[in-house]
Amino acid sequence: MARPTATAHIFKSKLPDIPLPNNVLLHTYCFQKLPEIAHRPCLIAGDRTYSYAETHLLSRKVAAGMSKLGVRKGDVVMILLPNSPEFIFSFMAVSMLGAVATSANPFYTAAEISKYLAACKPTLAVTEAATVHKLDMGWGLKAVVTVEEPAENCVRFWDVAAADEKEAPAVEIFWEDAVALPFSSGTTGVAKGVVLTHKSLMTSVAQMMEGENPNLYMTEEDVILCVLPLFHIFAMHCVMMCGLRAGSAILLIPQFEIRALLEAIERHRVTVAMVVPPLIIALTKNPALHHYDLTSIRFVMSGAAPLGLQLQEALANILPNAIVGQGYGMTESGPVLSMCLGFAKKPLPTKVGSCGTVVRNAELKVIEPQTGFSLPRNHPGEICVRGPQIMKGYLNNPQATAAMIDAHGWLHTGDIGYVDDDDHIFLVERLKELIKFKGFQVPPAELEDLLMSHPSIADAAVVPQKDDVAGELPVAFVVSFDLTLTEEAVKDFIAKQVVFYKRLHKVHFVHAIPKSITGKILRKDLVAKIASIAERT
Ligand code: AMP
Repeated sequence: MARPTATAHIFKSKLPDIPLPNNVLLHTYCFQKLPEIAHRPCLIAGDRTYSYAETHLLSRKVAAGMSKLGVRKGDVVMILLPNSPEFIFSFMAVSMLGAVATSANPFYTAAEISKYLAACKPTLAVTEAATVHKLDMGWGLKAVVTVEEPAENCVRFWDVAAADEKEAPAVEIFWEDAVALPFSSGTTGVAKGVVLTHKSLMTSVAQMMEGENPNLYMTEEDVILCVLPLFHIFAMHCVMMCGLRAGSAILLIPQFEIRALLEAIERHRVTVAMVVPPLIIALTKNPALHHYDLTSIRFVMSGAAPLGLQLQEALANILPNAIVGQGYGMTESGPVLSMCLGFAKKPLPTKVGSCGTVVRNAELKVIEPQTGFSLPRNHPGEICVRGPQIMKGYLNNPQATAAMIDAHGWLHTGDIGYVDDDDHIFLVERLKELIKFKGFQVPPAELEDLLMSHPSIADAAVVPQKDDVAGELPVAFVVSFDLTLTEEAVKDFIAKQVVFYKRLHKVHFVHAIPKSITGKILRKDLVAKIASIAERT
């Protein structure tokens, strides 16, 4: 293998760049094919199917209704909903108003939601009656809209959607205006608002499915499975935005239950499924699988977390009619960096274990983390990406933005990977702090802050422990001067304050947290310690 040099090795898609339509807004782009597909199915939720015409009309009506509730250009609207048509109507309505949609897990605790409210101060929240009590109105919410059940002092969603669409205000919106504000911890620290513009998201959708040799992984004939939560960028982008753009039918599954899911796949003849590895484990290990006809599935794309080779092959064996490939993305990168082109008009081979090739209109390089030198093919290093799709920056946080996007416009992902001789990207490990439980972000800094707020804890660090099912589990190392403090007490202390997947799997009591001379936690040492404890037990 050649030794790395200081020469810039920049990787681009083998396919030519796409001429990007200037200034096309996200909602316009998603509904651009409306005249041709107005009567085709768009959203399937239980027994109700909304056509493209209905989905577009309801989004416009909700925009008019939200405007009446005081939502103006640039305002933030928080969507705290499970997968549902109301999520999609609300998101598109917000885009039409030039406002910004932030979304979060409805299972978050009140304390977690308050952090988001404090950071982005939404004007309006759209949620379920059961979640209203978690919303602290002190952060400036003007109104709360509830779907399904009514709630005290809240407006009913269908009253908002009853507004006359012609009353939606004409708003001047620019390509560089923000439209989505998902939260992500990035490479370090707690979750921050990621400002994604019409330009970034529109470009990111186009990069996946337009141009010469377009990727036909979604078409008007397809039924797309939407079981991953729409509040996370993966489903929000790859299912909602790409699905609408393609004119596919989106099958909305509000909660994961394996038999109901398999039944829905069979009943609606799902053709394309976006999944995360733990979902593949749940599917492949379930004996019920063989009672259902899954032959309609032609493409499965896994993302958000590493997909083991054996798992990829196990799924391919179960679904012989399907191509099983991966995509690689990150909230801050707009989000998609790469994907397999197994469904391009002239398909390119999918390599097992690879996350595909870099998207068009983007550049990718792999750098040596210590020196910043770019590395040639087959040398693992930190993956960096540059292009019109990446985030504008973190909300009100220029310091964190500068740490993430360098002066030359390269976004540093914190992922270690390499590009092989055929341009395929392989991820090897994660350099950044982030822990991923079943694809969900668990920022160690957030748990460390909570641990440090415990009166008997003097220092703390949280690192990932590998797990066959969840991918990674958060494990804490704690320094306490109180010898009576137990592991269970620390776990309970955290469990009360966080959503289920951020709960601590294990707590180790130690005399000191290993740190560098600059005070940085030596996380690798702690990860190695977990491995050696596991070996001994
Ligand atoms: P998020 O911002 O929550 O989408 O998390 C982004 C991170 O998830 C990436 O930086 C990677 O560490 C990880 N990730 C995303 N896609 C993949 C993949 N296909 N394989 C391995 N890790 C992935």
